[in-house]
Amino acid sequence: MSDVPGPQGREIVAREKKIIGSTFRARFQPMAVERGKGSLIWDVDGNEYIDFAGGAAVANTGHCHPKVVKSVSDQLGKWTLGTTIVFPNRVSTELAERLAEVTPGDFEKKVWFGSSGSDAVDTIYDFLPIATGRRRIISFFGSHHGLTVGTNFLSGHKISSRYLQSPNVVKVPYPYCYRLPMETEEECVEYCIDFIEDQVFNNICPPEDVACFLVEPIESLAGEIVPPDSFLPELRRLSDRHGILLVDDEVKVGFGRTGRMFAIEHTNTVPDVMTLGKPIASGLPLSAVVGRKEIMDAEQVSHAASGAGHSAVCAAGLATLDIIKEERLMDNASTQGRHMKQRLTEMEEKHPLIGEVRGRGLMIGVELVKDRKTKEPASREALKLSYRSWQKGLLHIVVGTHSNVIEITPPLVITREQVDKGLDLFEESLQDVENGDVPDSVLDFGSW
Ligand code: PMP
Repeated sequence: MSDVPGPQGREIVAREKKIIGSTFRARFQPMAVERGKGSLIWDVDGNEYIDFAGGAAVANTGHCHPKVVKSVSDQLGKWTLGTTIVFPNRVSTELAERLAEVTPGDFEKKVWFGSSGSDAVDTIYDFLPIATGRRRIISFFGSHHGLTVGTNFLSGHKISSRYLQSPNVVKVPYPYCYRLPMETEEECVEYCIDFIEDQVFNNICPPEDVACFLVEPIESLAGEIVPPDSFLPELRRLSDRHGILLVDDEVKVGFGRTGRMFAIEHTNTVPDVMTLGKPIASGLPLSAVVGRKEIMDAEQVSHAASGAGHSAVCAAGLATLDIIKEERLMDNASTQGRHMKQRLTEMEEKHPLIGEVRGRGLMIGVELVKDRKTKEPASREALKLSYRSWQKGLLHIVVGTHSNVIEITPPLVITREQVDKGLDLFEESLQDVENGDVPDSVLDFGSW
């Protein structure tokens, strides 16, 4: 590694800072990227990095997978307009059929295409009250569903909290057991479910007014919070008891990352609707909603955006599905994820900054605290760690309701050698932060 940032990187970062608004940027390292391959990224000065971020869980098939690149360029050669609004095409139709097949649920489904996770979740805000004749939606503290007007209403994360809110959305606690005061996981789930039944339904939002629960099966921007296994089945039972739909937001955790195609499958829970995005076209802009036929037919010609479901992007979606299967990426996510979690848990014994290591497959969070007893969040240390790792050749970002969780979501093609080398760099960097060797000046680079 040469000294970073190099001269070209410094120039681009400075130019970008002058012209791109800070509302648009979430930066943890002053780095400008040149190219990527598999689980590696090179900056504009030629420095190589192991990617433990995967573009925030987007690059599941790795950077520039040759099959993705070829499928997109072949399709672009046939049809650049790509839109699905005015007439169908073979590629987008086939992708819709395959998404209906791979998603859980033995019922007739239909698919909607968009271009970002946010627009997929927006359809929930718009369609479900119409489809059900019920006006309210219940979502969870800590959740992040996007940054459009509708998804800011639905999200329970601090990055959305400054924006105007909707009276039709009620937010309730998520079982973030590490930070809730209950002793056991069962008590934590009981508290969250009882809160809805005893408090919310009784006092402020009758269940017959609720169209759906919108839930992340693992809350990722909140800090890779894996709820106890009983939570989603309990939520399903509550939904069924009151005729409420269950909407599973798999935009970030879906597509093989947790070792199953979808994270909700670990708990044998079947949702009525799923929102998909981020990795589904290996980084190209595509999102989808897959849901019960009657819900997806609730509206006529609303939410049809010109570029959504673009045939070249859907070609990347088909290639992505093939790669996940052919290269057994779910198995690799389970194997490498288990190894990573084990090594990180061993680090916990030596490094007091680590409060908790959690996750499923290759969706791992390392929560940093100043004191394990008080659990005071170590947010500055988390940013310093991301910065120091970058200086050593490893990329990761910071998430968390307290901005103190290192998110580890590498491409699912990552090898054992890359995992081990990355974890060595992670531990060296952690040691530097604990020794006070990373100056405050690095904190100039963004946080949530
Ligand atoms: N849902 C979840 C669970 C997400 O994590 C995100 C983005 N991180 C979104 C929706 C919004 O996706 P996008 O950024 O593509 O709009």
